[in-house]
Order: sequence, then structure tokens, then C-alpha cells
Amino acid sequence: MIAVLERGCPLKAKAEIVRFVEAEGFRLLVTETGGESLIGVIGPGAEALAPRLAAMAGVAEVRPVAAPYPQVSREHHPEPTRVKVGPVTIGGDEVVVIGGPCAVESEAQLLATARAVAAAGGRMLRGGAFKPRSSPYTFQGLEEEGLKLLALARAETGLPIVTEVVAPEDVELVARYADVLQVGSRNMQNFRLLSAVGQQPRAVLLKRGLMATIEEWLMAAEYVVAAGNPRVVLCERGIRTFERATRNTLDVAAVPVLRQLTHLPVIVDPSHAAGRRELVPALACAAVAAGADGLIVETHPDPDRALSDGRQSLALPGFEQLVRTCARVAVAVGRTLRAPGAADAAPR
Ligand code: PEP
Ligand code: MN
Repeated sequence: MIAVLERGCPLKAKAEIVRFVEAEGFRLLVTETGGESLIGVIGPGAEALAPRLAAMAGVAEVRPVAAPYPQVSREHHPEPTRVKVGPVTIGGDEVVVIGGPCAVESEAQLLATARAVAAAGGRMLRGGAFKPRSSPYTFQGLEEEGLKLLALARAETGLPIVTEVVAPEDVELVARYADVLQVGSRNMQNFRLLSAVGQQPRAVLLKRGLMATIEEWLMAAEYVVAAGNPRVVLCERGIRTFERATRNTLDVAAVPVLRQLTHLPVIVDPSHAAGRRELVPALACAAVAAGADGLIVETHPDPDRALSDGRQSLALPGFEQLVRTCARVAVAVGRTLRAPGAADAAPR
């Protein structure tokens, strides 16, 4: 439920409203937007407060909130959220490209990739150190050794790093190294993990579950925000359908739908949707055209020898070509996208 305050509502009246809601044991979400003050009242039974709230001095109107994800919904927060990660802003005019291997395999592999991603205009480096693999007999990741290599690549290139965390007990370790914690598709409804990443300060990249509706996905994002972390970026990566020609079906429509439903930034992973590298550039262009705030793309110096997801990983020149092409699409839809050769972020 949202209380819309009268324009010019005196501070004293506003403080009184806040005190009243808190005293009743509800959570508050105060938003100032376009000269309007909105006070969200969150918690079970909030609707029962409506008549008393509507009668208070300074309250213009009390509206119910339809969405079961009040904090991430646009109803509470009409302005888009920008998530800042070091020198990079996700959710602004720039379409942010994140590149890197599926998994961190070795220093040589990661550094070669990081240098190529930075040179191609990529703004962040991805790479899994903890891998949620479908088979227990496949490469599971280098774990902390992989995190150390990511930190080394960041020190050399200045690219912030995005890496997956698969278990609540690993959150503290991964957050010590990473700039962005990825919660993967298979964990989108691991509510303990969502709360754990909500209780640490790094930004969170929340991928859509393989079988998740947009509403379930937004409720997962709500878990992270409710636990205290507002820096959430959503990532569409394809969903499971009857179609087998691609690994997953990229739900391009999710991008404009989410734009209506939430203030959170939305990026797209064309690699896990496509499953085959030759399809990745077209899906990336479609995502940018649909209004995505960024792309996360798998790339590897020698994809055919990659320890995971090689079939969908672009070789390094292919990654650069994708950035060039997407930059033209970005301009066509009124956005910017850093082209190859642009100045790198300063190494930190
Ligand atoms: C990945 O990013 O390598 C990954 C495992 O992604 P997803 O969770 O989307 O399958
Ligand atoms: Mn992968």
C-alpha cells in the first residue's frame, strides 16, 4: 500500500505519518519523485491501516499496491535505478557489455580474455570460480584460486568482476573478491542464498530461473532487496520451452515487460540462450534493440578447448565484432555502447 502525500506536506506531518506506520510494526519505503512524496507501507496486513492513514494530515491519497514485490516494483519507485559498480553504471544511457569465459580455468586463459574484453570495449569481466554444473563429473570450478585470478585480472585491466556464488556459506568469501555476485538460474529460488546476498554490500546479478515466470523472478529480486541490498540487476538468459533448436528460448519480450514492472536495470545473456556461438550476435542485437541495459557474453581464447560452455562461447575476435555491431544498434535506439579501442578504465 502507498500513501501519496499532499504537495508541500509539512515535514512535521510527514514525520508523524512515518512514526505512525513504524509504531504499527510495518516496514516503510519513502520515495521522492517528481515533487511527490510516496510512503510505501510494507508487511502482512498493511491494507488494514488504510482508513487511519487516509485520515492523517498531509495524506492526499492511499493506493493499494497490486504487485507482490513492492520494493522492486515501479509503483513504489517510478525512477529507474542505476547500479554503480566502480567506474561503471548499469541502468543509465550506456549499454554495458560484460565479457569473459564461462569458467576461470587458468591465469593465461583469464588474462588473455580480460585484456581482449577491455580492448574490445567490454566494461566488466565475467568468469565462474564456483560452477553449478548439471553433471557432478564435469569441471566444477577453481573456487578460491579462481577468485584470486579474477582479482589479478581486475588489477591488470581495471575491469570490475562478476562471478557466481552458489551457496550461502560461500557468500562472504566471494564478496571479498568480486564486485558483482551472480546468482545463477539454478539458484534463482534458493531463498537462503537470496537473503545472504541481500545482507552483503556487493551488487547482485540475478539471473532468471530456467522455468521462472517474470513474477517469480521479481519476487526473488524482492528477497535480495528486502534483506537490505537495493543494488540488484536482472539478467534474462533464456527459458526452457518445447523448442530444442536453441539451448533455451530467449524471452526478448521480458525486457520491455520488466521496464514497465520494475525500476531495476535489466541485462541479457545471449550465450546461455543460444547455446551455439553462431547465434549469439543476433540475440545480442535483439536484446539491445529491445532496450536492455547491458549484455553478458561468454568469450574464450580457445572456445573449442573450454572446460565449460565452449560451444556457446565466442572466440576473442568474435567478441570484438559483437561489440562493434551492438554499438550500432545501441545508437539506433538512442543509447551509447563503448566501442573497441575506447579508453580503458584506470587499473585499481
Ligand atoms: C553462467 O553464467 O555460466 C551460468 C551458469 O549461467 P546460468 O545460471 O544462466 O545457466
Ligand atoms: Mn556458462
